[in-house]
Amino acid sequence: MNFTEEQIERYSRHILLQDIGVEGQEKINNGKVLVIGAGGLGAPILLYLAAAGVGTLGIIDGDVVDLSNLQRQVIHFTPDIGKPKVESAKEKIKQINPDVKVVTHHEFFTADNALELIKDYDFIVDGTDNFPVKFLINDACVLGGKAFSHGGILRFDGQTLTHTPNTACYRCSFHSPPPPNAVPTCSQAGVLGAIAGMLGTIQAAEVLKFLTGTGELLTNRLLTFNAKTMNFRTVKINKNGKCPVCGNHPEITELVEAQQAVCELKKKS
Ligand SMILES: [Zn+2]
Repeated sequence: MNFTEEQIERYSRHILLQDIGVEGQEKINNGKVLVIGAGGLGAPILLYLAAAGVGTLGIIDGDVVDLSNLQRQVIHFTPDIGKPKVESAKEKIKQINPDVKVVTHHEFFTADNALELIKDYDFIVDGTDNFPVKFLINDACVLGGKAFSHGGILRFDGQTLTHTPNTACYRCSFHSPPPPNAVPTCSQAGVLGAIAGMLGTIQAAEVLKFLTGTGELLTNRLLTFNAKTMNFRTVKINKNGKCPVCGNHPEITELVEAQQAVCELKKKS
């Protein structure tokens, strides 16, 4: 790839970095990343990856922008209410960086479309807000041999880990989804808006590290933080031989539709 003068200027702060340089920036511009969910986590992830010049950004989200989203989903603006989130996100990405090719999927990530959706991408980012889909993303990426970033936020807390083939997966540590309604979702329990930005930018940094081969990924480690105390911890996670999807005798060899936890607040509205 030959950068134009405009691109050299646009990406100059990356190019100046010893660990990235022109070569790393080329890798970013050739990168293909799928972001699942254009909500609280997806917003900062997409904004930073677009600004960084990721070549192809896939976005999958079946929802439309709702007034209650705007407290944290900073890629969507007040006039976007009622618009599909993928369209609203695409419009902002194009304004930030016309270099980025945006592929939108206005649908939800399901057992039926998962493997087909991820197959063309180098890296997958989980920006969803419910457990069944998080497990589905994990299983699809493990079975499809894809690297991905898991992310979860609730109230004042965030957690994330990165999986690459042959490192611990989400199920190595969290065996299976909690029963429906055992754990509240953000729409039931609330979330401090800035938490989405804190965790989403960590996930975006992991993507850029992965694409450029820079530093040490959050593999075999779970990063957690609580914003009330501002304590950050990383806990070692070992690849688990008994893991139901990546272990020695996996029970999960194909994707099955996860039972969706019913979101009570949404049901009422
Ligand atoms: Zn596993």
